[in-house]
Amino acid sequence: MTGDDANQETPDTNGFGTCCEDLEEVMSGAEFEPLITVGSDGILFMSVGQIELEDDEPGLVDHPVFYCPFCGQELQTVDEVRAKSGENNGADNGA
Ligand SMILES: [Zn+2]
Repeated sequence: MTGDDANQETPDTNGFGTCCEDLEEVMSGAEFEPLITVGSDGILFMSVGQIELEDDEPGLVDHPVFYCPFCGQELQTVDEVRAKSGENNGADNGA
């Protein structure tokens, strides 16, 4: 741990991870590869499981995170996620 008065290195968190130290530490990914990441759309995602792809490579199933899993603060809203992702991108409703 170092002094926290210097915020020199800003990871690509898009502003997420400021609600509590736990989420900040996870998203910094300093010592491990976090399963909570910010997608290219600026949406905060959490990996919730693995899926087998046709290429025999396990893939991670991501789901948008609306509330911080550690402190419970609202991080983004459903409307924000929809706006960023563009309507129902990634939604798998319906048969
Ligand atoms: Zn938090």
